[in-house]
Amino acid sequence: MINFPSNTNPTGSDELEAAIDWMVEKSRAEKLDNVHTEDVKAPHWVRNTENASMTLPRLQKLDMMGLGSSVATPPEGITAEVLVVKNFDDLKKQKAKVPGKIVVFNPPWESYCVTKRYRYDSASEAAKLGAVAALVMSMTPFSLSTPHTGQQDYTVEDNLKIPVACITVEDARHDGAHAAKRWGQKIEVKLVMNAQNFPNVTTRNTVVEVLGGHTPNETVLVSGHLDSWDVGQGAMDDGGGVMISWAALVVMRKLGLTPRRTVRAVFWTGKNRGSTEELYALPAMEYYNRHRDEHEQFQLIMESDSGTFTPQGISFTGTPEATCIMQEVLKLLQRINTTQVKTPVKGVPDIISWQQMGVPLGGLLNDNSHYFWYHHTHGDTLTVQDPDILDRCLALWTSVAYVIADISERLHRG
Ligand SMILES: [Zn+2]
Repeated sequence: MINFPSNTNPTGSDELEAAIDWMVEKSRAEKLDNVHTEDVKAPHWVRNTENASMTLPRLQKLDMMGLGSSVATPPEGITAEVLVVKNFDDLKKQKAKVPGKIVVFNPPWESYCVTKRYRYDSASEAAKLGAVAALVMSMTPFSLSTPHTGQQDYTVEDNLKIPVACITVEDARHDGAHAAKRWGQKIEVKLVMNAQNFPNVTTRNTVVEVLGGHTPNETVLVSGHLDSWDVGQGAMDDGGGVMISWAALVVMRKLGLTPRRTVRAVFWTGKNRGSTEELYALPAMEYYNRHRDEHEQFQLIMESDSGTFTPQGISFTGTPEATCIMQEVLKLLQRINTTQVKTPVKGVPDIISWQQMGVPLGGLLNDNSHYFWYHHTHGDTLTVQDPDILDRCLALWTSVAYVIADISERLHRG
């Protein structure tokens, strides 16, 4: 079989390292300052081939995707009766039925923040009660039979780890629940996963700057993550965030603008592969741990990792005084209708640790109500990005970074 180069950049892949090299090369070509990378460690998981089918009460292929860090099934797969549960309470109520079963988790969708714990914890919770595998409803409010991958976490010993995959909302809701409840029929599923977990790899955060002309030691940081899941193209999560952060500096350089303070862009890596257990080993955390003593140099830290749809303004966490300055700055953007300042900051997983050091934080506020339609799917491709809208996101991002880097006043710190 010929291995074609992939469109995606998961950590541990040659494609991600090539993407980092490409960003470095392009940044040098654009004459940005202090172009460099910082080595970090990140987990390395490879999906390989996988499939699932319902074998009883009728034969039906299930669209599925293994979840990051899942162990494999034996080569012949796991075939077992299914137990459908609504939530963790329901799992406990039915615990006598769990041993030997494949448990299907079919929780109600509340929000990504709330519901994603089923993606993270289902395998471990089911394994503790004797399940042989777990299948979890995809984390999305809207589905066209689309499986959504993502990270999961084991909180059990190695010998108790069971394979876990996501299935579509349609399959989690209907095939499971209906067949079992209406007809009392036994449901059986065959799951085959050949995923592999490798030792942590060394990869790189990428750092580029436009040096400040007056107080270069003070910094406004903009960021997005350069790695992606191994499905689709990662164009939305987080190609858009990386590109507006990179292009903000390129626009400043091309316009010959030198702000008072330095504007730094950081392209995180390995963010999608972390587990909560390993949180403190994540590349963005490594950056924080390595640089937190420099926290007083940061005027503002921003991240875009919640889509680059129609921009609306900035989500922000800072003191009332800093919020007031932010509101004044955003008033400059009436012509592109992106004047909102909404508190607190949202959707900034790679920079949130800086909050405890009192650094003001900003996120790209955008009309991202469809974000989770595409998130971690084969549908996350360039077709999701509208070039005109992306330009407006860039205009907003660049203006805020430049003006906050250039104003005479320091943003107040918490
Ligand atoms: Zn992301």
